[in-house]
Amino acid sequence: MKFNLTGRIVLNKSPEPNLPGLQKDLADFFSEANEMILTKGAPEGKGAAVTDWTLKDDNILVTIMSGRYVRAHDALLRLKKHLGIKFGKKYQLGARSVVADNYDIEFAIDRPPLAEIKVPFVQTIKLDGADLTCNISFENLSEEFLRQNYIDRIIKLVNHKIADQYYAGKSEQWEVMWSSVERDHVWSKDPTDEMQRLGWLKQGPTKGKWFYRPQLTAILRAMEQLALDHVLYPLGFQEVIQSHLVPFDIWLKTGHIAGTPNEFYYVSEPLTRDVDAWESFRDTIYVTNQVPSDKLKELITVPSMGICYAQCPGIYWSFQGSVIAEDSLPVLIFDRAANSNRYESGGRHGIERVDEFHRLEPIYIGHPEQLIELREKLIERYKYVFNEILELEWRMAWVTPWYLEQSGQVSEVSKEENGKVNGNDKNKDSVKLKGTIDFEAYLPYRGTREESEWLEYQNLSIIGDKFIDSFNIKTQRGDLWSGCSGIGLERWAAVFLAQKGLDPVNWPDKFRDVLGELPVGYRTL
Ligand code: ATP
Ligand code: ZN
Ligand code: MG
Repeated sequence: MKFNLTGRIVLNKSPEPNLPGLQKDLADFFSEANEMILTKGAPEGKGAAVTDWTLKDDNILVTIMSGRYVRAHDALLRLKKHLGIKFGKKYQLGARSVVADNYDIEFAIDRPPLAEIKVPFVQTIKLDGADLTCNISFENLSEEFLRQNYIDRIIKLVNHKIADQYYAGKSEQWEVMWSSVERDHVWSKDPTDEMQRLGWLKQGPTKGKWFYRPQLTAILRAMEQLALDHVLYPLGFQEVIQSHLVPFDIWLKTGHIAGTPNEFYYVSEPLTRDVDAWESFRDTIYVTNQVPSDKLKELITVPSMGICYAQCPGIYWSFQGSVIAEDSLPVLIFDRAANSNRYESGGRHGIERVDEFHRLEPIYIGHPEQLIELREKLIERYKYVFNEILELEWRMAWVTPWYLEQSGQVSEVSKEENGKVNGNDKNKDSVKLKGTIDFEAYLPYRGTREESEWLEYQNLSIIGDKFIDSFNIKTQRGDLWSGCSGIGLERWAAVFLAQKGLDPVNWPDKFRDVLGELPVGYRTL
């Protein structure tokens, strides 16, 4: 890495340039700095060096070159600090701030880029795929910018973006771990279309939403009951209720706001509740019978929060900064109050890909071995529901996001090594510790088993300590991990109805027992 910075130390005043001794003291200061302050922490001869300096009014202009150990911008900050110590008493001179007017950095990239990339804040970026180097230059960087490690994050971002280019289109590794028996299905129609025809369902008033009429509501509630009675309650999960508005600082910690900002519904607040402030807005509505959006813009905040996207972030937040008592581990909780909202745009389809869906999300926090044991129990319970009650044709697949695979975070242990882990695939001699299992089902209306895309109708993850760390959650001893499982009711129903049709006669008895009589609904003419 090469860092080349020209910048300034801004002084508290303009010293008289001919002040006796000042020039010499400055010269001594910089040559001493090159020997001491700017080499501290670096191997012999690998520190930063001030190669040029000039006193100009209330600025000391400096040029600093460095390698990776004491990066030039850190060197500039060190100079600022020591200048005050050195010149305060004798000359009443101190450093007010520092600025990097031009900053050129050359660093290694992991592999050749496949296309140009853009990164914020940089003035120019030049990628050399043959030499595996990147040159970036910045202008006019404030002290704040230099202090906050933005430079490091930008260098990392360049390498991430290049890695992304290699994985475009194959965002995860997918490997079937278990499959149910093949079953006969009663039809191959899209249940959403049929339900609309029968009046069980009506397209919602805004994009990607549905109005569920009594029949489908009863089916969704029956699905929920199955999850409660056969999965969550028997395993000891306790219910919580959280807000469905999520402030950005929570999504900053989970990474959602950087990950999927294009899928959120954003929420604004009124700038004021003062009735008078809204008078013109209300009067305009009175006159035009329309909502004047230009006026509205002036009366609301820029969003600082969004509607729930997944329930786990709010639950992690609720443990932020706490030490969880050993005897409460593993913590097993779930939320079913906050609906998940996602801007699916062109991907919307039927009740299986909607912009607002109803989910139970169990979340578990515990020692790694507790969570691995829990995963087995969850799988066992889910299998019971899908095999014995809903009688579905489905499978489980390991899906590993490529970034986990790449960063070597997906550890496996052999079953012998970890006596507690009892893998459910008898043919495998190792068990993944962290990772996600997708539950997928065959949808006959999409085509053949082999060729059509199966629907992921729920998942189950062990995430490791990522969120535990970001929310600073602690335990009394040992490692703490977490994970979650997303039980999407619309997806459970979509799968069931796509395989079993809409006539309760064809539905498994055990499901009908939970459902009871299908509501008659109503007719509109
Ligand atoms: P997909 O790849 O289908 O978009 P995802 O990876 O975004 O799914 P997760 O964030 O893992 O989904 O959410 C977990 C569960 O939430 C899914 O298994 C599914 O049950 C449900 N789910 C996600 N998105 C939707 C949606 N748009 N409509 C209905 N249910 C959904
Ligand atoms: Zn989650
Ligand atoms: Mg999605």
